Amino acid sequence: MIGIMGSRPLVEIDKRMLAREGEWLVKTREIPELGPYRSRLEAIEALYRHVTICTGVLRRENPERVRQFVQHSITECKEPDCELCNALLALAPDANVVQLKA
Ligand SMILES: [Zn+2]
Repeated sequence: MIGIMGSRPLVEIDKRMLAREGEWLVKTREIPELGPYRSRLEAIEALYRHVTICTGVLRRENPERVRQFVQHSITECKEPDCELCNALLALAPDANVVQLKA
């Protein structure tokens, strides 16, 4: 599991999500409006990626896992039983997920 994934209180998802005209934006300390994203889950993934990069935790992770994490897209992932997808879904159990995999 990549460092920050699963630490919901630290990231404060609900305070940082901004819905506008059917799209989702993410408020971060470094970037006032990150996005837009088509779904809340995509926005949550972007938030985690942003926070993970900004906090520097990726420097302590295995390079191959870092590559997977940075390139991952929850809407395009076809990996069965994917660790990152599962972690994101656990963070946003109420999100409407549109994934390509069945
Ligand atoms: Zn995945």
